[in-house]
Amino acid sequence: MFDYLKGAAKIHRTEYTYWRFKHFHINHVMLPYSGFVLSVIPIYLLFGYLDYQHLYADAWLATMTRFVFSFLCVAFLLILKRYSPKHLDFAELTLVLCVYWSLTYIGQMAMEQGDFNYQSGGILVMAYIGALSRLPFKASFFALTFMAICYTVMITPMRLEHDFAEEIDRLSIMLAIYFMCLIACLRRESETHKSFEQFCQIRSQQLRLRASQSKLALQAVTDPLTELKNRLYLTQNSSLLMQNAKQSDKALSLLMIDIDNFKSINDSYGHQVGDNVIYGVAQIIRQYCGRYTGMNIRYGGEEFLSVFYCFDKDQLLSVAESILNDVAKLYWADKDLRVTVSIGAAIDKFNAADDKSLSLNELIGHGDSALYRAKKSGKNCIETN
Ligand code: GH3
Ligand code: MG
Ligand code: MG
Repeated sequence: MFDYLKGAAKIHRTEYTYWRFKHFHINHVMLPYSGFVLSVIPIYLLFGYLDYQHLYADAWLATMTRFVFSFLCVAFLLILKRYSPKHLDFAELTLVLCVYWSLTYIGQMAMEQGDFNYQSGGILVMAYIGALSRLPFKASFFALTFMAICYTVMITPMRLEHDFAEEIDRLSIMLAIYFMCLIACLRRESETHKSFEQFCQIRSQQLRLRASQSKLALQAVTDPLTELKNRLYLTQNSSLLMQNAKQSDKALSLLMIDIDNFKSINDSYGHQVGDNVIYGVAQIIRQYCGRYTGMNIRYGGEEFLSVFYCFDKDQLLSVAESILNDVAKLYWADKDLRVTVSIGAAIDKFNAADDKSLSLNELIGHGDSALYRAKKSGKNCIETN
């Protein structure tokens, strides 16, 4: 039966959760419905008409009070909504208390003039808190209790003197409304907590989804054996590479690297040893290209592509030679296995003056034919375009 009380009584275990909940409450509970707070102002002002029927001479004072309070409250609310929404609950609480106090004050004025039928306006404010307001439970409890005390202290004694039985009747109605509004506020708080929990769940699902999306996106462009990027990555980034080369006024250059006689390694030692060889060569390539701007791609089975955009021809050839030498030093002692690579180097004869440059595909074509020539001329060597 009191299941909904659990949610409302939930204690925020950490300060972080507390601030998250507060943020949620302001942005998803208070702000979107702040218009409803203002909707009570016209009703409050319209009751000014009754002031003239109950207060006679002092009616203008009551009407003035209504207008001044309305103006101040609306201004306060709108300014806070615009510049400091986190204080919106405070603004609403102030508005409600001011309106209630003014009604009690007007009720007192009426009693002083002998009118004991103009003291019930405060009940409407209580009803507002129970039905329309979205204040947190603590604030609602404070406001309702303030109202109940205010009425009992400022109105009840004079009314009891005037008509004891009628005031007891009114007090009991007031008390019933007080408790009903409290329960309504408690239920509202419980619903807010449930929405907050759902909101947190959706948010963490979104975050997990985003994380797995970026993980998948990274996996899609990464070769699992060598951890170098694959051809899809090259395709996706080719225009960026060209653009970077142009912006830095540097020629785009590349190395096509192919392991020599790799098929016979596979055939003699098995695919697992073949994989180790590919991995070992890839680490050397990564080590060199990693030092310079550009990218390393596993282009095919035992074929790699390193692209640079800050090299002249000498620098390109010196990196190619370092790769060639370091691969030649690789040695798998248990298999007594050594490998070599052939490299095709290609550099764009970029001419800034006539703005003519090769496309990446054309450059790859040049690198490929240089590699073909390196294979033809005995392997374990570098050829250039
Ligand atoms: P060349 O010196 O002319 O380059 O000859 P090659 O034997 O190196 O070249 P070829 O194209 O004839 O053989 C490449 C082999 O690489 C064929 C394929 O089975 C093998 N291969 C491709 N991808 C992988 C891989 O991921 N792991 C292993 N172990 N072998 C692979
Ligand atoms: Mg090969
Ligand atoms: Mg090959």
